[in-house]
Amino acid sequence: MLLRRNFPTIVMLHYVSDDPAHDDLRPWNISRNSFTRLLDFLQQENYRTLVFEDIDKGKRRAKSIIITFDDCPKLLWDFAIPELLKRNMKAVFYIPTAQLGGFNHWNVVEGKPRMDLMDGDDVKKLIEVGMEVGSHAHDHIVLRGMDSREVARQLTLSKSILESIIMKPVISVAYPYGSVPVNAKRITKEAGYRFGVAVKTTQQTRYAIRRWIYDDMDNTGTLRWKMSRAYTWYRDSEDKTAFLIKRLSQQAYRFYAGFKNILRANFTLIILLAEDTQYI
Ligand SMILES: [Zn+2]
Repeated sequence: MLLRRNFPTIVMLHYVSDDPAHDDLRPWNISRNSFTRLLDFLQQENYRTLVFEDIDKGKRRAKSIIITFDDCPKLLWDFAIPELLKRNMKAVFYIPTAQLGGFNHWNVVEGKPRMDLMDGDDVKKLIEVGMEVGSHAHDHIVLRGMDSREVARQLTLSKSILESIIMKPVISVAYPYGSVPVNAKRITKEAGYRFGVAVKTTQQTRYAIRRWIYDDMDNTGTLRWKMSRAYTWYRDSEDKTAFLIKRLSQQAYRFYAGFKNILRANFTLIILLAEDTQYI
């Protein structure tokens, strides 16, 4: 089942840090300034932040957004979370349970900077301050192409670990790397989730919901574009121009094909008329 049209737009964030040591984590790391810019924009545009629990209870509003954080570095407590709380905003935090209190080893093996991740106490605290906690699978691994029993294990294990910490149901999962498992609808649903979020998927279902990426390069214009319905058809954020050219050329071709058909039809009509009046 495809998503309803009025489903809130969802942004994916990771790290918010001004420490130059974290520069190499870009675009997954954004500056404090960029984060403030995003929140200012949402306030100016009158967006309300929702979490999946709200959606599940049927809460909708024309202008709403779900802010999500993947991986959950501890440093979000230094700036991002206080900024959200100051503005009465909430967000959903996705953490891979095998790395609770650990670090982002999947980035480190690629030579990227190390970040300490939240532990069980942090997760509890997130709930206490009104945030929502979701699963990011147990291990931070690509689920697509993996044996469905292992996918099910990843999803159920992380759910039960988080639930034993926060003492309430965990209703959404963010697939690591946005990699939607095969048969996500069945497996994720059977694991007890109500929602599964991905990244930049165009065919959206409840278990593969699209999120867009916010980075330091974004401004008011790109934010509006990323939050628009048109952007949900857009796959590759790095290649915006190529995408636009493709869309324009598709439109141009459609126009040309339509025009050709009109010409052909009129030409046939002229011949028929001409035959009728014995001009040819
Ligand atoms: Zn992740």
